[in-house]
Amino acid sequence: MIHLVEILDICPGCGKCVRKGVCPTDAITIQKGKAVIGQGCIDCGLCIPVCPIGVIVKTEPEAKSIVQVERKEEEHAAE
Ligand code: SF4
Ligand code: SF4
Repeated sequence: MIHLVEILDICPGCGKCVRKGVCPTDAITIQKGKAVIGQGCIDCGLCIPVCPIGVIVKTEPEAKSIVQVERKEEEHAAE
């Protein structure tokens, strides 16, 4: 399953989003110094405002596919 809520790689692992009561399914863990969202995530978005530096983000699958299409067009333009 592709999650819509993601944590960017630049997360310094402050641990705020891992505290009890933030994630209703306790899906966030700290691994190798970064917060990681696991399988239990239900994309509720409750963790997003908790992050003090805004590295928890909601992604749009449509936007991702638009970016991929634009990249393909750029590749053609370069040929
Ligand atoms: S979006 Fe909701 S379920 Fe997913 S990690 Fe954040 S708080 Fe937990
Ligand atoms: S609150 Fe933000 S910076 Fe802190 S561990 Fe979570 S995602 Fe990383």
